[in-house]
Amino acid sequence: MRIVFATAELSPVATVGGLAAAAAGLTSELRRQGVDVEILLPDYGDVELADEAWVPLDVPEWASPAGIRVGTHPVCGRLHLVSVPGMARPHPYLQPDGTGWPDNDARFFAFARAVASWVQMSHPEVVHLNDWHTGAALAALVDGPPTILSIHNLAYQGNAPAWWLSRLGPRAEHFEWFGGTNPLSGAIALADRIVAVSPNYVGEILTPEGGFGLDGALRSRADDLLGVLNGIDTDVWDPATDPHIARTFDADRLEDKAANRTALCDRLGLADDGIPVATVVTRLTHQKGIDLLEPLVPVLDQVPVRLAVLGSGDAELAGRLHVAASEHSHSFVFVEGYDEALSHLMFAGADLYLMPSRFEPCGLTQMQAMRYGAVPVVTAVGGLVDTVPDVDEHPRTGRGVVARRPDPVELCAALFRASRRVGDRRRATTLRRRGMGVDWSWKQPAGEYLALYADLAPAG
Ligand code: ADP
Repeated sequence: MRIVFATAELSPVATVGGLAAAAAGLTSELRRQGVDVEILLPDYGDVELADEAWVPLDVPEWASPAGIRVGTHPVCGRLHLVSVPGMARPHPYLQPDGTGWPDNDARFFAFARAVASWVQMSHPEVVHLNDWHTGAALAALVDGPPTILSIHNLAYQGNAPAWWLSRLGPRAEHFEWFGGTNPLSGAIALADRIVAVSPNYVGEILTPEGGFGLDGALRSRADDLLGVLNGIDTDVWDPATDPHIARTFDADRLEDKAANRTALCDRLGLADDGIPVATVVTRLTHQKGIDLLEPLVPVLDQVPVRLAVLGSGDAELAGRLHVAASEHSHSFVFVEGYDEALSHLMFAGADLYLMPSRFEPCGLTQMQAMRYGAVPVVTAVGGLVDTVPDVDEHPRTGRGVVARRPDPVELCAALFRASRRVGDRRRATTLRRRGMGVDWSWKQPAGEYLALYADLAPAG
């Protein structure tokens, strides 16, 4: 079976958030399972390919000139890097000051149009689109192959002015959205199947609270909407072989995890004195709820917990976290930045892993944390509900501690429960082993996608 998989992000060549990890993890597992996957990624400019060939694309004048660099990348394998006007930039979406590129609509509409041209040229059996960046491809595809749209985060929709409608293609009217152009609403209307990245997220996006204005559009497609939980790359996230951590360990050598806690505390300037260490690895955005932790910082001693946050994003929030860390340096550390190597030690050294998300389509870090024996403390949203049953509610199957609502009081209560739980060594070991024993890999999710492809293109 041959599928076209279009995405704006792909680890490690174009990484912004979970979409990059999901695209890389799913496509490599699909290839392992025998699917011929053509990955179409925007050509942001600095990726070198071996055995490179150039394929020109026939697109309308506004998306021209367009073409594809096809070749092999040492980590990602075969790649189709789509070149359209204005795409090559140092960051996929953001200017150096952290705001979006003003022409992101033109860049990604052109990318989507180029994807459509490639599909028209190459006749794959299934087209798999991801998020708003790729959605407008469906405006140009008439009588094309079956299509799937995966929604990784409904909060980002790529809204653009209405005049785009006259450019996108014959099915552009589906993209008209309250006086503008919405690439996600059109793709929701036109894709043959819509996948949300966790089963619980499906329920949320059908409600006005979680639908970001598109819940009605999604409700009208409810019969074609399903949830497939993301996986993680269990080769990269493997405490038994991880080169970034102080000492490797596994579920049977949990005592070696302690060396990582010592190394983490040393690195961050925290005392390693038996008080549970909770970590957070995150983008600093409203979604992630890191601001909800600010009122907690002064009471961490009473919980008791030491808290370390590694995060990048919102500069104002980062500034406040720096201040909180300077005022409570014995119990709270903030490291600003995106640091992959340190993130591994943050999982390996953690007793607890905290996710105060306001919403979380799937969430990867709770799975990464459990793989490293850190007990997750999460809010009851999105994929966190699917992956972290509360241990007090489900004593035999629970994997972590759940705060009912994303607010500081609930989070404090959850941290308190979690601190008690990991303070009891025997009970902590049971819980850590339970999380480590789950297969968090892409094997099962890729199987579910494969079944979907086969359902849509039975002859494949
Ligand atoms: P989202 O895609 O919403 O940012 P996810 O939990 O789905 O959140 O995925 C985020 C991915 O990015 C995880 O693999 C996480 O380890 C990584 N990550 C996020 N922030 C950082 C950071 N500051 N430093 C290193 N890795 C990070």
